[in-house]
Amino acid sequence: MPKPLPPCASSCTAAQLALFAPPAATPAAPAAEFDWDRQHVVVIGDSGGKDSGATVHTVCRAAEEAGQLHKVRVLHCDLGSTPGGHSIEWPGAADVARRRAAAYGVPFAVRRSTRWPSLWERILSHGRWPGHFARFCTSDTKTAVGRVYIDELAAELRLGEPIRAGYAMGMRAEESKARAQKPVIERHRMSGKGTLRIVTTWLPIQQLTTAEVWQLHEEHGIERHEAYDRGMRRLSCRACPLAKTEDLVRSAQLNPELFAEYAEAEVQMGDQFKKSISLREIIERARS
Ligand code: SF4
Repeated sequence: MPKPLPPCASSCTAAQLALFAPPAATPAAPAAEFDWDRQHVVVIGDSGGKDSGATVHTVCRAAEEAGQLHKVRVLHCDLGSTPGGHSIEWPGAADVARRRAAAYGVPFAVRRSTRWPSLWERILSHGRWPGHFARFCTSDTKTAVGRVYIDELAAELRLGEPIRAGYAMGMRAEESKARAQKPVIERHRMSGKGTLRIVTTWLPIQQLTTAEVWQLHEEHGIERHEAYDRGMRRLSCRACPLAKTEDLVRSAQLNPELFAEYAEAEVQMGDQFKKSISLREIIERARS
């Protein structure tokens, strides 16, 4: 269970953001405030990873302080399995996300793409692996799933007007330049021209470093997936072309059957898994 709120909790989230604000030399944009009153619901995407854990904690604590916890939902997007029956995500990721939602007393849902039975089918149909400039994996098996879930909530709430939803994600500036440049709060392109839904994305932990994310876990008893204790530094897909080679080598050691299946697909597709290294080479390194 998460630890109780500290005495300073009334401004905990704001203080946290201020604490990790850019140095004074950098012209700082005014801190964006998340408008809880405007939203009918606030969905948190939880992949089961550490950044999701920190996000669930930060959003739920802020919601409690604002008296808005009843609006919060946690969504885990299930990426399905390979034809060989191997889970594309780390097994147990959905369970970690479920327990984290329960720890804060908020509803939890698991949803999968209505179009693609799994990320595997999506990749094969594309004929190429995802890349930094081809994030069809996240747009089709996560963003699109989030949009359908928000529409589901709209139908459930029978609002009689377009649903206004917050969508909190665990992206962090440290991960890439693109993520560093994203506004903390912005209207999302899934907003349907003012007719179906108005979605505001929120990156509440954008300015946290990896060390600070782990510190939050320790200080507040946030559950972490066991893969981190087995040498992984990031979660979600067990074989992600965007992951660092050393993480893929470690994952190949822990998931040899899954990697063998991915390596077969690499040969069939005729597209190297990562620009810098093939799956065959990753597997060889994992064995050495
Ligand atoms: S972990 Fe990698 S392959 Fe999986 S959805 Fe995310 S970016 Fe795409």
